[in-house]
Amino acid sequence: MRLIYDVKQLKHYLNSLKNEGNSIGFVPTMGALHAGHLALVRKAKNENSLCVCSIFVNPTQFNNADDLQKYPRTLESDLKLLQSENCDVVFLPTVEDMYPQGYNPVGVNLNGLDTRMEGAHRPGHFSGVVTVVSLFFDYVEPHRAYFGEKDFQQLRIIQQMVAEQNREIEIVPCPIIREENGLAMSSRNKRLSEHGKNIASNIYKSLCFASENANKYALNDLIENVKSQLAIIPEFELEYIEVLSENDLSPVSEINSKTKARMFVALYLEGVRLIDNMPLHLFESNQ
Ligand code: AMP
Repeated sequence: MRLIYDVKQLKHYLNSLKNEGNSIGFVPTMGALHAGHLALVRKAKNENSLCVCSIFVNPTQFNNADDLQKYPRTLESDLKLLQSENCDVVFLPTVEDMYPQGYNPVGVNLNGLDTRMEGAHRPGHFSGVVTVVSLFFDYVEPHRAYFGEKDFQQLRIIQQMVAEQNREIEIVPCPIIREENGLAMSSRNKRLSEHGKNIASNIYKSLCFASENANKYALNDLIENVKSQLAIIPEFELEYIEVLSENDLSPVSEINSKTKARMFVALYLEGVRLIDNMPLHLFESNQ
């Protein structure tokens, strides 16, 4: 596994590999790696000759200085995990490498995909994400890039960015990897107490309830039901629950077989912001 710190070196090395006919699968991360990240790496390895993983805590996508400062950094164990997955290249740039002239946001028409949820509650977040992923794509020029459905809005925005920028990169969506109790894996979970991790499983339980009962309730009643389930846990501070179309992330008025809809939740627990989502069309055939 080769560690590369410098953009020039990265381009040079990857060009020589591509000239030998290798395909590149790219997995951008912010480190503090867990099984969710490793599933992306494994898929990238399976579908390409080589896997490139980046670890970069991107300051421009944090709208909250405290969140950035407290973001877990576990480089040594990250590298061990990547090595155990036979990752080929790890790119570890500094902030100065990524933004040598300071932050210069990349503008892309996101077609309204950024107006709700994370876009509404984390001002500037997607501008930072689009900018950093666009720079990574310039440097790595992968054949495929792997993104988790855990950050479903991000995944859709990156697909839109690639289309708008006419890039020939296949964006590969990857399913959410969960703890045994259902909690969606996240680097931020490292900041939760054991009690917090236990009660956080109620997010998953509520989403399962919504998914299994999507056909039995009017949509508003379904949302209210999930809200009251989450409200039973006093430690939860709900930020939003939304049911949106997977396609354009606009609100749906009902669950039907034509529109693929998902329920999205964001809440605070022990000062940690958690997000999760689940499709509401899984049980359509039971109707
Ligand atoms: P992050 O390091 O949080 O920026 O995440 C890097 C990539 O891993 C993103 O594409 C995330 O969506 C993905 N990811 C994070 N957690 C999970 C998870 N639990 N399951 C699947 N993908 C994940």
